[in-house]
Amino acid sequence: MTTPTPITVARGDGIGPEIMDATLQVLEAAGAQLDIDFIDIGEHVYNEGFSSGIKPEAWESLRRNKIFLKSPITTPRGKGVKSLNVTIRKTLSLFANVRPCVSYDPFIRTNHPHMDVVIIRENEEDLYAGIEHRQTDEVVQCLKLISRPGSERIIRYAFEYAKDRERKKVTCLTKDNIMKLTDGLFHRVFEEIAEEYPDIETEHLIVDIGMARIATQPDLFDVVVVPNLYGDIVSDVTAELTGSVGLGASANIGDNAAMFEAIHGSAPNIAGKDIANPSGLLLSGAKMLAHIQQGEVAERVHNAWLCTLEDGIHTVDMYNHLTSKKQVGTKEFTKAIIERLGRVPKKLKEVHYHVDHNPLLRYERKPRAKKDLMGVDVFVDEAKDSAEELARRLTRAENDVLKLIMITNRGIKVWPEGFPETFHTDHWRCRFMGSIDGNAIKHTAIVDLLNRIHAEGLDFIKIENLYHFDGEPGYSLGQGQ
Ligand code: NAD
Repeated sequence: MTTPTPITVARGDGIGPEIMDATLQVLEAAGAQLDIDFIDIGEHVYNEGFSSGIKPEAWESLRRNKIFLKSPITTPRGKGVKSLNVTIRKTLSLFANVRPCVSYDPFIRTNHPHMDVVIIRENEEDLYAGIEHRQTDEVVQCLKLISRPGSERIIRYAFEYAKDRERKKVTCLTKDNIMKLTDGLFHRVFEEIAEEYPDIETEHLIVDIGMARIATQPDLFDVVVVPNLYGDIVSDVTAELTGSVGLGASANIGDNAAMFEAIHGSAPNIAGKDIANPSGLLLSGAKMLAHIQQGEVAERVHNAWLCTLEDGIHTVDMYNHLTSKKQVGTKEFTKAIIERLGRVPKKLKEVHYHVDHNPLLRYERKPRAKKDLMGVDVFVDEAKDSAEELARRLTRAENDVLKLIMITNRGIKVWPEGFPETFHTDHWRCRFMGSIDGNAIKHTAIVDLLNRIHAEGLDFIKIENLYHFDGEPGYSLGQGQ
């Protein structure tokens, strides 16, 4: 007999306790060997004044066990409350969010009967770094951070996932026609890593057309790897296409820890009524079993669940007049799955769980590039001046080294040769470049420039240094599209 694996479990809020009870009953009946430590998270922990919805002793359990089966929680509305999911993902470095989206046609109604897509979303970076600032009266910003290690890790994970499960194709979605540096890096790393997997077909699509295609022809896709924000959106779109939000399972994977949860929320509108569909959490539990090397039990659970669907025993969210035979509540659905343990489906495809080999995706740092400081973008808050007047004041602030070459407003060039039609906010990016034959400049030239801009009575709100890396500009060159 396998030694029980210690795991941490949170029963959550709303329908959380009902679907967790259902899940644990099925896992136990299927023979899962688990040593469970329950923790308290969510609404009442927030209300006790813990702004991230989790207490220190719960962290201790998570750090000790490293495997977390989590029910959804209710996030109180209002200021000062942090998303528990984002906090857990980032604190435990759960860099990969894996969400399989499968059709169970004809038993669950969907317009896409052949869909079997896995969305692999980067979980830590991008606009979710949470670095936001209000800089002027009219303008706020959110920093989009994409790193090479972050991109390499998630993209290699996606290819390993595809290889292990004999999947044929990996698609990458970015918007690198606009965000040439950030999304450009993600795309470039995708092309580099794709070369290490010549047996897997690859494609890159611009995210807008890519999402439109996934939403209308999901059966054309296999594994999809995406930066965080696009992944958040596309994984919800894809899950919705399967027929019920109650079906979606997800795994959040890191090098040292993993969290498994349904994709839906705590559904307070149906809590305590014995009607919630426990499938999303149950399938997440099956993924957890595979992750902790109890793949055979995972198969038993998943196949019994498929048999229950085939037999037309459906919760209300799955119910349809064509294939449903009996509408049941959470408890009866759970009982029906347990009764079918050991059976395999006849019409739906039997599931064979891949036992995760949990590859350690170590990042090898490349030799550092030669980095030369070439200029600076100075961001200025100015509400009264026109672009021409601002340029006059900034030109007066130039020093021997740094000269004003361009002003943009929300990324559109307004000086020199701006258009009178262009709308201006109070937020200006003013680009100064080194004037001496394209040679690198020193930081002291920027410090001097800022002093002179201050003396002109202008409010500089931030600067971005402009570097060349091995001779290549590390900044966008002109105006936005
Ligand atoms: P939700 O997913 O809870 O509910 C959306 C709709 O889907 C509701 O009509 C609900 O009844 C239905 N639904 C959801 N799960 C179902 C299931 N298992 N079976 C049958 N029907 C189901 O989304 P929401 O209403 O926007 O959010 C409710 C709360 O959940 C909020 O406090 C939100 O912050 C939180 N939330 C938590 C998580 C999480 O903990 N991972 C994720 C999303 C939302």
